[in-house]
Amino acid sequence: MLDRYGREIDYIRISVTDRCNFRCIYCMPEEGVPMVPHQEILSYDEITELAEIFADLGIRKIKLTGGEPLVRRGLPSLVKKLKSVRGIEKVTLTTNGVFLADLLGELKEAGIDGINLSLDTLDPEVFARITRRRELEKVLEGLHEAMKYPEISLKINCVPLGWKEQDILSMAELARKYPVHVRYIEMMPIGLGRQFAPVGEEELLELLEKRYGKSRPCNKKLGNGPAHYYSFSGFLGKIGFISAVSHKFCGSCNRIRLTSQGFLKTCLQYETGTDLKKLLREGAGRETLRKAVEQAVMEKPLCHRFGEREAGTEETHMMSQIGG
Ligand code: SAM
Ligand code: SF4
Repeated sequence: MLDRYGREIDYIRISVTDRCNFRCIYCMPEEGVPMVPHQEILSYDEITELAEIFADLGIRKIKLTGGEPLVRRGLPSLVKKLKSVRGIEKVTLTTNGVFLADLLGELKEAGIDGINLSLDTLDPEVFARITRRRELEKVLEGLHEAMKYPEISLKINCVPLGWKEQDILSMAELARKYPVHVRYIEMMPIGLGRQFAPVGEEELLELLEKRYGKSRPCNKKLGNGPAHYYSFSGFLGKIGFISAVSHKFCGSCNRIRLTSQGFLKTCLQYETGTDLKKLLREGAGRETLRKAVEQAVMEKPLCHRFGEREAGTEETHMMSQIGG
């Protein structure tokens, strides 16, 4: 499916819940976000019905997100349903990892293709400061369990906060020791993220090169996202960067988002999109839904305007409500 700027849209991030067992300081307030009644959240059948329409229109990859997707009961059953939708090639998941060790067997059985594990530090105290939870051990258990399944692609996402004690080099060590890619995600000025200054990738790369020697940019495309990667000698995995603000990648944006309440969001920054749950629950037929998706994609904004003052119509939700 093409938007009006000729971008091919083949990837959707589907949020399955606003709830989360963590309260990361840049993502969710300590008291959480207002609970959305369960009936306002799309059921797994509704998500699958919409996925059939997305697939028909050319979506090939689905990433399940949240809140924390693994806190929603029966998530592996949704993975299985989505894997059986004709046209869908990959179903992956982004998670904080607390329930990963418990659910990996079921996820594998359901056909999960990849897992992104969000992990910002290996220091238990810093971990507790960032997530407001003392669950590092459980997350590391999930990480090591996931490494037992080489057929499931595994990436670690780390958001640098600019704190020395976060020790972002120890995160890179994971890519040196294990065949996993570690990606540094630039803080985005959405919700609570606005309070933090992003750490530039040039600064990070300099730090990494001081420790590990010269890096080589990786020309081969890895995955379906906007990350660009570097190799370091002696590393089993690669180091990636996703810098939405300083290295804007809107020109090649291939993605749309479905919130847990069924709103199709066409750009991370803007509230533009269309309410598919409303249409679905009013009994709209496939053709109407299909047209609504096409129309929304056609109107996908050209690019975000993070960093500009008074850009207008910006997203007012928290990242946990959008799905990252
Ligand atoms: N709970 C799951 C997790 O943490 O992977 C899925 C949802 S979470 C919103 C998805 C990703 O968004 C996480 O990797 C998180 O670090 C990232 N994130 C949250 N707020 C952000 C912000 N302001 N800027 C950049 N990344 C952010
Ligand atoms: Fe939860 Fe993920 Fe947001 Fe952390 S980043 S609060 S784990 S949704």
